[in-house]
Amino acid sequence: MQGYVIRGLPIIKEGDDIALLVRSLFDFQDGDVLCLASTIVAKSEGRFRELESYHPTIRAAQIAQNDGKDPRFVQAVLDESVEVLLDQPFLLVVTRFGHVGVNAGIDQSNVGDARILLLPENPSMSAERLRASLGKDCAVIITDTCGRPFRAGVAGVAIGWAGIAALRDWRGEQDLHGKALEITLEAIVDEIAAMANLLMGEAGDGTPAVVFRGLKYSRSGDCSVFMTEDKDVIRPRLRR
Ligand code: GDP
Ligand code: MN
Ligand code: MN
Repeated sequence: MQGYVIRGLPIIKEGDDIALLVRSLFDFQDGDVLCLASTIVAKSEGRFRELESYHPTIRAAQIAQNDGKDPRFVQAVLDESVEVLLDQPFLLVVTRFGHVGVNAGIDQSNVGDARILLLPENPSMSAERLRASLGKDCAVIITDTCGRPFRAGVAGVAIGWAGIAALRDWRGEQDLHGKALEITLEAIVDEIAAMANLLMGEAGDGTPAVVFRGLKYSRSGDCSVFMTEDKDVIRPRLRR
C-alpha cells in the first residue's frame, strides 16, 4: 500500500471544484482512495457563516454562559444538531447527518477570518459527487479531526464516504486456530481516515488531500459508522 500527500492545493474558496483541482495535481488510478479534509469540502460548498447572523435563543445563551462561549456560536451548533448529548463543559451533539461530535464539527481554525465554518451539509453526498468527478473508479472519504470518548487525543474519523463499504464484517471468518470469529465489524473508513488525518496535519501544512493506493476494500454496502440510536447504549445514559 502506498500513501500520497497531494501538494499544491490553494486556499479553497466557495465554488472551487475540488475534484478538478486534485486531478490537476495527481494522476488517479482505479481503486485509489482519496481522503479529503472536511474543511476544504465545506469551504468549496460555501459553508462559511457570519457569527452576526445568529440570534441566540435563551437556551443558547444559558449554555454559552455555562461553557464560557459566544452565544451566537452556541446557536450555530444547535442549528446544526438534532440532539444535544452534553451541554457542559462542552457541547456534544448529534449532527443532522448522524455524526456525533463536539460543536457539531464547526471550525474556527484554518478558516482565515472571523467567520465560522460548518461541516458539509451531507458529507456522504459530497463524497459521492466528488467521486463521480474523479474520472477513475475511486473511493472518497471525507475526514474530520475529532476527540474520542475514553481516549486522550484527537484523531481523524470519516464523516462521509462513497465507493467504499464503511465497515468490514469479519463474522464467520476463522481465527488463527480455526475458531469462528463472533464479533467484529471493523470500521474501515475510520481507520483510513485516521491515517489520512495523520498525513494531513492540523496546522498550516496546507495538505488536505491524501491518496492511498493498493488498499483492499469492498466497493459497496449501505453500512455506516454512525451507530443507530437503537444500538447505542451510551446515548440513553447521557440523556439522563
Ligand atoms: P479538519 O480536520 O477537516 O477540520 O481540517 P484541518 O483544519 O485540521 O486541516 C487539515 C489540513 O488541511 C491541514 O494540513 C490544513 O493546513 C489543510 N487545509 C485546511 N484548509 C485548507 C485550504 O483551504 N487549502 C489548503 N491547501 N489546505 C487547507
Ligand atoms: Mn474540523
Ligand atoms: Mn484536522
